[in-house]
Amino acid sequence: MRLVILGAGESGIGTAILGKKKGYDVFVSDFGKIKGNYKEVLIINEIAWEEEKHTKDLILNADVVMKSPGIPDKSPIVKKLLAKGIPVLSEIEFAAPFTDATIIGITGSNGKTTTTMLTYHLLKSAGLNVGLGGNIGKSFAWQVADNKYDSYVLELSSFQLDGILKFKPHIAIITNISPDHLDRYDYKYENYIASKFRITMNQTEEDYLIYDANDEAITEWFKTHTTKAKLIPFSLTKTFSEGAYIKNNKMEISINQEEFTMDTEHIALEGKHNMKNAMAATSVAKLMQIRKSTIRESLSNFQGVEHRLEKVLKIQNVQYINDSKATNVNASFFALDSMNTPTVWIVGGVDKGNDYNELMSLVREKVKAIICLGVDNKKIIDAFGNVVDMMVEVDNMNDAVRMAQRLTEKGDTVLLSPACASFDLFENYEDRGNQFKQAVKNL
Ligand code: ADP
Repeated sequence: MRLVILGAGESGIGTAILGKKKGYDVFVSDFGKIKGNYKEVLIINEIAWEEEKHTKDLILNADVVMKSPGIPDKSPIVKKLLAKGIPVLSEIEFAAPFTDATIIGITGSNGKTTTTMLTYHLLKSAGLNVGLGGNIGKSFAWQVADNKYDSYVLELSSFQLDGILKFKPHIAIITNISPDHLDRYDYKYENYIASKFRITMNQTEEDYLIYDANDEAITEWFKTHTTKAKLIPFSLTKTFSEGAYIKNNKMEISINQEEFTMDTEHIALEGKHNMKNAMAATSVAKLMQIRKSTIRESLSNFQGVEHRLEKVLKIQNVQYINDSKATNVNASFFALDSMNTPTVWIVGGVDKGNDYNELMSLVREKVKAIICLGVDNKKIIDAFGNVVDMMVEVDNMNDAVRMAQRLTEKGDTVLLSPACASFDLFENYEDRGNQFKQAVKNL
């Protein structure tokens, strides 16, 4: 069996290792340059490869192809493969049959990483032999080849879900759905929604789907579709006999006739969106039969993930918060929503079709000044120019932070939550967040 892998990143290399171990004739092809350490891995494992090209004769003879999530279906080589009827799979589809582990798959537009990390923390702290993978950390396929985990918590993007045929997580989470990546879905929101719901398409009556019952796209989907999985809804406003909700500042979870209650003030994560993430992750912990005392302890000591509403420093009683990962309006909505003091908001970058109206009432209520940090800030200025007292444009992080400091007084918050992608002024959102933290430390 010939396994061809397109894209020699983490998931590609991991799949190559697993394929080789399982006796496939493996070939790795990358249209760009392969990173040095990955090249070494290929050489040491005697896996054939090429870079800066896709040689048709070495690719179109595949029995099965694994495609990295970054390569669109529209790319010429993928089109040729599909035209020949050769299956083009994602890493999780290829690797899952080689493990008996319990799979927990987490998708959604926002909150994937936070929910995945928290779920992993809950299971790991309880002593489970659990792996972490998908979009984060080490390749799932690589871990399947190397390790013997009993369960895996996987962060799954829609691109990974597009490449599945039979993959089925025992427990699936859809954190929420809002428009994103529409360029890869023919600019049709319904295609993107359908892609997210692929996470449940192979689930059976034995499996579970945990989802946000307040989410508009999710509720609409359920009007015309079904899944065999047992449903576990979570909500900030509704209550359920089977599901998770917040009532009187308590998180209440009721699953399989078992109850779990915890005061939200003891949950270390802050903000409404994080209460939703906590309900989703805790539902998994309940399904995996983790003890209540262990769940409570883990929820109270989980400090969150870098660049997601990350508290950086308090200087002269002003709190600086790094939410650089907020690359869309929905994420910034929840960031602003969780502000309790007058806020200087640093926003801007590459706009993916934002509708800033959704933020209008929060900005009126909480934001005292806006610092635009982008190459083109016109849309932000048009949206909020008449809403806040002060608006400043800057083109680098040091100026943004220094300006923010000047505009604050004791008790205020400075929030970097850009609602935009970062690549006009930064390498990526991590670079943007790190520059913010450095600039704050330099104050
Ligand atoms: P993802 O992996 O889906 O991008 P992250 O956990 O990295 O999600 O969070 C991305 C951004 O969205 C951060 O700014 C974070 O504060 C915000 N966020 C986290 N959870 C949610 C949620 N449930 N709903 C909306 N925004 C969220």
